[in-house]
Amino acid sequence: MVPNAVFLPRKPSPPDEPVRRARHRATREFLRAAIQETWRGRIALVSSFGTEAAVLLHLVASIDPATPVLFVDTLKLFSETLRYRDLLTARLGLRNVRTIQPDPARLAAIDPDGDLWRRDPDACCALRKVEPLSQALAGFDAWINGRKRFHGDRRAGLAAVEQADGRTKLNPLADWSPEDIEGYFAAHNLPRHLLEADGYTSIGCMPCSAPTLAGEDRRAGRWRGLNKTECGIHLSLVPPLRGEE
Ligand code: SF4
Repeated sequence: MVPNAVFLPRKPSPPDEPVRRARHRATREFLRAAIQETWRGRIALVSSFGTEAAVLLHLVASIDPATPVLFVDTLKLFSETLRYRDLLTARLGLRNVRTIQPDPARLAAIDPDGDLWRRDPDACCALRKVEPLSQALAGFDAWINGRKRFHGDRRAGLAAVEQADGRTKLNPLADWSPEDIEGYFAAHNLPRHLLEADGYTSIGCMPCSAPTLAGEDRRAGRWRGLNKTECGIHLSLVPPLRGEE
């Protein structure tokens, strides 16, 4: 079983380097047990190759660089994200990064002009993200993702392990603080996403991501102005696809 007990208590990480290093080690052991024991050969990491992604990618690569990494290219991403994927893949020695794209026939039928994001972003996310990922996860019993409680909103009460759509979802960084993330980047000299320097603290598709302002939540630039905070892959992987009738 995954050793939940290795997670430290849910409390803000103090500015204490030994405690931070202990959290890093505990998370790595959590992942090692999941990848090499509990779900050996049946687990994948899902990564957006966004601003914080290098941490989880580095942890997983340090355990087994052949672990499947699923990356959904919605065909609406920033070119900087694609370059970051290539950079991290090479730097970390990842050997099984799978880039998944939406089905061209369904794109032609449902979003022929590529502007569904403007008219119905939930349907666009379902078509370009949720559906391709759902298909790519077939054959896996568990998947790892990088959500954290400090992202706020729906993520504020995130558990380390969840069950959803018949699979186990592991959130190994759920209790990490921004300082834990920064500490890990520094400790391992990890490269940054190029758009971070332009004020993007959370990066998804180009039409639906904007820089954040001082004092805003990290994800405030996602779907700015809309009553939408998640793309859907963490709500359900079997959504109704509006717009196809
Ligand atoms: S984030 Fe925007 S462009 Fe990307 S799939 Fe969702 S609605 Fe479409």
